[in-house]
Amino acid sequence: MIETLSIKEQIKKLIELQKLDGDIYALKRELREKPEYLVKLKEDFENKKANLKQHEEQYKTLQVTHKTLEGDLKTQDDAIAKFNAQLSLLKTNKEYTAKLHEIENFKADRSIVEDKILLSYDALDATKANVDKEKVVVAEEEKKYLAEKKVIEDSVKILEDKAKVLESQRAMIAPSVPKAILSRYDRVLEHTDGLAIVPVKDGTCGGCYMTVPAQVANQIKMSKELVFCETCARIIYLVDDL
Ligand SMILES: [Zn+2]
Repeated sequence: MIETLSIKEQIKKLIELQKLDGDIYALKRELREKPEYLVKLKEDFENKKANLKQHEEQYKTLQVTHKTLEGDLKTQDDAIAKFNAQLSLLKTNKEYTAKLHEIENFKADRSIVEDKILLSYDALDATKANVDKEKVVVAEEEKKYLAEKKVIEDSVKILEDKAKVLESQRAMIAPSVPKAILSRYDRVLEHTDGLAIVPVKDGTCGGCYMTVPAQVANQIKMSKELVFCETCARIIYLVDDL
């Protein structure tokens, strides 16, 4: 009957279990962290894509502005041509001078628009260069992201398989520990993130490194019951005692 296992035998079983659980918890930590890292990588990649999109939007806006300016230029050219044609029809000097003045005004406006169009060409070129540069960045980042994603997903599969093997080994050992002891051990394991039973070394607990009082050490030596660290609540044992 396992319920009749001596305390020392129980501790030995728990140490065996702890070896597996230590590895299982480490694997589970890795399994938690890897997808988090993948999320971060994806975020970085999405940010690069958003950056490209911003440059593309900027380019589109500039194209629209450029088109509008070209439209304005055409309107002014048409007006100037129309006024020039009207000049020969005018009868008086006064009318003629007024029309010439009007034409000059249009020409001045036209020259402003022309300057704007030249600047707009520069802006378009610069923005297009940015778009092309960012496209290369995004393409490289995508390659990197997909490659890292695959590495992570593959390693997750391996870790999951390893965890399954360890879990099944654990399932074989666990029934040999009395139920009440096992559930106590499991509770400590959960609260300590995977380290439930530790040796006392040089008078200190191997889990929290606090001094184990002499009377507690004596309690362990008496081997009448499991003894717990007063500070971290882990099960403690004496290596030489086993
Ligand atoms: Zn402790």
